[in-house]
Amino acid sequence: MIMPGASQTDPIWDGGCRCGQLRVRVSRRPILSMACHCRGCQRMTASAFSLSVAIPSEGFAVTAGEPVIGALHGESRHYYCPHCLSWVFTRPAGLDWFVNLRTTLLDEPDLFPPFIETFTTEKLAWVQIPAAHSYPAFPPPEAYEGLMREYAAQASA
Ligand SMILES: [Zn+2]
Ligand SMILES: [Zn+2]
Repeated sequence: MIMPGASQTDPIWDGGCRCGQLRVRVSRRPILSMACHCRGCQRMTASAFSLSVAIPSEGFAVTAGEPVIGALHGESRHYYCPHCLSWVFTRPAGLDWFVNLRTTLLDEPDLFPPFIETFTTEKLAWVQIPAAHSYPAFPPPEAYEGLMREYAAQASA
């Protein structure tokens, strides 16, 4: 299946939840890959940190199942599988142009190692990951343009 607006040269990466009822498809390259060490992500993943790839919205589609809202039910919408309750993707408040997909839900979970890490102030003491850039909270807004450019350059190298 070719997604609307996609050309034949666009990549296709599929992914899904633990039980497989909720399936997603990515047809644009990520603009950034991240690990987040915040306490919210620790709780939502029941693990040390979350991994995500930011996908341009036009390159992201749910291909099977109906996601439900979970977590805080706040302005940022966290989407879960209604059956196995896996956290699959997030639509950040006020940032409709991209979707944060949980990297490890891709069928090829090792494709996009984290390029930046956020909320290192809340990082578990034993955690070490090979991110190129580390931030105590989120990066300042003015940092994103340069980060995305640098990420695109290293991804195509
Ligand atoms: Zn599921
Ligand atoms: Zn977080």
